[in-house]
Amino acid sequence: MDGRPYFISVEEARAICNATPLQTKVEHLPLDACTGRVLAEDLASKVDDPPFDNSSMDGFACKFDPEATYPLSLNIVGLQAATGENEAQTVSAGEAVRIMTGAPMPPGADAILPIERCEVDGQRVRLLEAPKPHFVRKKGENLREGVIALSEGQHLTPSRVGLCATMGYDTLPVYAHLNVGIVSTGDELKSPGQPLKHGEIYESNSFGLAGLVEWSGHHPVRFPSVADSMDALRQTLNEAAKTCDIILTSGGVSMGEFDYVRRLMEEEGDIHFWRMKIRPGSPPLFGLWNETPLFGLPGNPVSSHVVFRMLVAPYLRHNLSTEAPKEWKVRAKLCDPVKSTKDCVTLRRVTLVSTDEGMMAYQPRHQGSGNLESLASADGLTLLQPGQSGEVGTWIDVLVL
Ligand code: AMP
Ligand code: MG
Repeated sequence: MDGRPYFISVEEARAICNATPLQTKVEHLPLDACTGRVLAEDLASKVDDPPFDNSSMDGFACKFDPEATYPLSLNIVGLQAATGENEAQTVSAGEAVRIMTGAPMPPGADAILPIERCEVDGQRVRLLEAPKPHFVRKKGENLREGVIALSEGQHLTPSRVGLCATMGYDTLPVYAHLNVGIVSTGDELKSPGQPLKHGEIYESNSFGLAGLVEWSGHHPVRFPSVADSMDALRQTLNEAAKTCDIILTSGGVSMGEFDYVRRLMEEEGDIHFWRMKIRPGSPPLFGLWNETPLFGLPGNPVSSHVVFRMLVAPYLRHNLSTEAPKEWKVRAKLCDPVKSTKDCVTLRRVTLVSTDEGMMAYQPRHQGSGNLESLASADGLTLLQPGQSGEVGTWIDVLVL
């Protein structure tokens, strides 16, 4: 490999990829287009939340009197609804105002008794117990104007988009989607829907990878699969480099005679590393094709998926300074023996069952890297470190799929 990094650890591979940053752009979108996007700037609240003292209950507002005894009868002097039109009825001793949830506190009142504990009789109300100051939501108690509540890189979940509206934002700065080109290679590949001849299989990687790109919050650009030829591959990669921010290829990166992605990248591209210490998925390469970052993913369907999760997804996150989509690791006890390896992180497909003792991991399927069903029916991937035992009863980390 001419001194280029070869068969390196996951951490080394990630560091090499991260040394080639992507150009990211910021766009401003209306709030209702922002769910699922990544925030590109810190956001300070434009207002106090809540903007005024208000009631958290339907009931009566009055002044709390530490000397009073209950039941206590008060004069009803007004009604305060949750509305911008406030009559601002002042409350004095011996008086109460009927108040609705979210309505501004009348001047002079500092406590609320919920309606269930009040008896109304014409213009009088009987409080069965003391009104409660804690039913008043104080101005700014959730958030003060000027305080940064959301930071660059945060994933805009539905509650965060709602919070942006609460803070007074109608548009948000978010990172633009990256266009991720997906090029599968192999003479044997046929598009689903067409009849298969002996020796052919349905092309599945580009569909799975497109789903992973969308899951990552970006835009997949699927190219028609390319035959095993230097010319055909060169032409498609040139096209992809023109229109995409990053290219993913699948297949053709192993040691086979027809592994043209590796050959073309060696002869005409720029390889930054080849092969990484994970199993399945050890063949990937990373480099530049016409200045565009290119991940050469393995052809085996499980391997291409696993390498996306272990290498491509972390690279995309790194470039947007985000944790999204968040990776969840859980501790789980192995309930079936799992074959680990000495030098690789072993990523077996397991199903997870939550029990009183914690999470249990089972490996019900045969683990061939061509067995996509074993991935489709799994909940997680074992993160067995090099040399770590995969015996029954071992507690291990599992990456949730
Ligand atoms: P390769 O890395 O090109 O040697 O491919 C390894 C294995 O993955 C072979 O069995 C291929 O037929 C299979 N394979 C390669 N590309 C795809 C694809 N896009 N969809 C499904 N299987 C594939
Ligand atoms: Mg191939």
